[in-house]
Amino acid sequence: MTEWHKTNWRNKPRVQMPDYTDQDALHSVEAQLAKYPPLVFAGEARKLKKQLGAASRGEAFLLQGGDCAEAFDQFSADGIRDTFKVMLQMAMVLTYGAKVPVVKVGRMAGQFAKPRSAPTETVDGLELPSYRGDIINELAFTPEARIPDPKKMLQAYTQAAATLNLLRAFSTGGYADVHQVHSWTLGFTESEKAARFREMANRISDTLDFISAAGLDSDQEPSLQTVDFYTSHESLLLEYEEALCRLDSTSGKWLAGSGHMVWIGDRTRQPDGAHVEFARGVLNPVGLKCGPTTTAEDLKVLMSKLNPENEAGKLTLIARFGAGNVAEHLPRLVKAVQEEGANVVWVCDPMHGNTIKSSTGYKTRPFDSVLREVKEFFGVHQAEGTIPGGVHFEMTGQNVTECTGGVHAVTDEDLSDRYHTACDPRLNASQSLELAFLVAEELSA
Ligand code: PEP
Ligand code: MN
Repeated sequence: MTEWHKTNWRNKPRVQMPDYTDQDALHSVEAQLAKYPPLVFAGEARKLKKQLGAASRGEAFLLQGGDCAEAFDQFSADGIRDTFKVMLQMAMVLTYGAKVPVVKVGRMAGQFAKPRSAPTETVDGLELPSYRGDIINELAFTPEARIPDPKKMLQAYTQAAATLNLLRAFSTGGYADVHQVHSWTLGFTESEKAARFREMANRISDTLDFISAAGLDSDQEPSLQTVDFYTSHESLLLEYEEALCRLDSTSGKWLAGSGHMVWIGDRTRQPDGAHVEFARGVLNPVGLKCGPTTTAEDLKVLMSKLNPENEAGKLTLIARFGAGNVAEHLPRLVKAVQEEGANVVWVCDPMHGNTIKSSTGYKTRPFDSVLREVKEFFGVHQAEGTIPGGVHFEMTGQNVTECTGGVHAVTDEDLSDRYHTACDPRLNASQSLELAFLVAEELSA
């Protein structure tokens, strides 16, 4: 394979990326970003890779979650805190169910660029370019708002840096103490309909009491006080990704400095395309979305490009087929992985194959479909004798009404109450935690 360089993607066919009209402005932004510090460090990406390696062997379990698209106007400390908090709650429940450490990775601090199903959108006879995420253009339906503006990359960088700063503070500053996390979890289980989760929460309580009684409390044990929390996003806007690429002096390899883990979306995984070319050269763990159109042949080529040394933890395959479709598609890909003897982490994204339009006109996802896809994913792995290594959710710590169902039974009529996403519908805090309990039941079954 040809020698990799961070600019080589420019010679490959690109899809889902904006054509910037003001090239001078683009070059000046790229030059500026290239001088800024990276957001993450190579040692952190290596540590995550090692933990994902454990997940590939069933010795750890990945929880990846966060917004579909981070938005400039929804940026707030409370928003970050609440998503972080609910992810830690979910991780505790999953740890209890899986009996292995849970690797926590946010779709945060860089998840700004969006692939779209159509390049334009027409409303009342007016056709405009689609919204592609706040790092590219604006959601407002006006011709000016939809022009791609390279300067938005600088604002995205700033927001990502501030988000990571807060996440690092929360992870080590006492907020992540197990007793604290557990007391939040109990709040959820006071709900009437959550009675079946109360028992599991009580068992977790008993375990923590035992740990304290045995003198292994968080005062003495730093690992009960702090967590490793990583960031990830889709590596879509390659000008931004290239500008934040840094050479790691320890290994002589290139780091995508924009986040700990990056993934390739279902629409940009062409084996000879720009996105695969970029991702194949970075030392970070890389995710690859696998959808109904992923063929076994393509997957084999992609695995050899994205993980040529077959490193454990390097490649995560994120399956997103939709409830009812997993048994049709996952087995052929599992077989392709087995035939190659490839080391991968199998992760279930039960969100992107389950998007429907509600009777009230909103893009939504029924909680039951999300759960069903997770169960089907576990079922196929059990049948094939392979390892389900994690889950990937679009979720938020806020009490939004974007997905239907769950213990509080959000209905089609409720969706208009607090529908805040700029892109796809997210599970709210209670739906996210409920799903964690249900996944924990699967894991301990
Ligand atoms: C996403 O993760 O937000 C996304 C667009 O997913 P996919 O590429 O799987 O459609
Ligand atoms: Mn999405």
